[in-house]
Amino acid sequence: MTALRIECIQGDITQQPDVDAVVNAANGLLMPGGGVAGAIHRVAGPGLARECQPLAPIQPGQAVITGAHNLPNRHVIHCLGPVYGQDEPSAQLLADCFRQALRLADNQGLASVAFPAISTGVFGYPVREAAAVALAAVRESSASLRSVRLVRFVLFSDEDRQQFQRALEEGGVD
Ligand code: ADP
Repeated sequence: MTALRIECIQGDITQQPDVDAVVNAANGLLMPGGGVAGAIHRVAGPGLARECQPLAPIQPGQAVITGAHNLPNRHVIHCLGPVYGQDEPSAQLLADCFRQALRLADNQGLASVAFPAISTGVFGYPVREAAAVALAAVRESSASLRSVRLVRFVLFSDEDRQQFQRALEEGGVD
């Protein structure tokens, strides 16, 4: 069995043409909004919101999968992260997002998934803590993945990339 490769890059989640699925830091109604959701819906086009509508609402920690429409990927996986200090237990709900997204990708036979830093924007999760939760959740999932071989974290700022890179290195070499 090939090991899961995990990488952390600075970039835009809507511009990852070499991955099968990108993850949306969605809102509960799966509507276009600000941040990641705004960018994803803008590039995907209005067909994505139409496909999302019957799947909404979703709860914190939950993930659903759709087509990618005009994005250069096969699927979008929409996760609702916890609002920090409000949706509790925050760490468990955030970990659930990563676990559920990977399970959905694996069930579809996908090989690669790109995640943004879910909950660290308007939902207020401190990046350092979110990075530790995200990396631990991905590592924990890796044993049960059959098709997913690459997980890429795409961070908007170099500072955030460094936090995720640190969390990756602290957990051991991949
Ligand atoms: P949430 O509502 O889950 O907090 P946001 O979309 O507000 O999600 O932000 C999550 C993180 O994604 C933030 O760190 C933000 O800077 C970053 N971000 C915003 N737009 C993009 C993008 N196009 N690609 C990658 N990361 C992005």
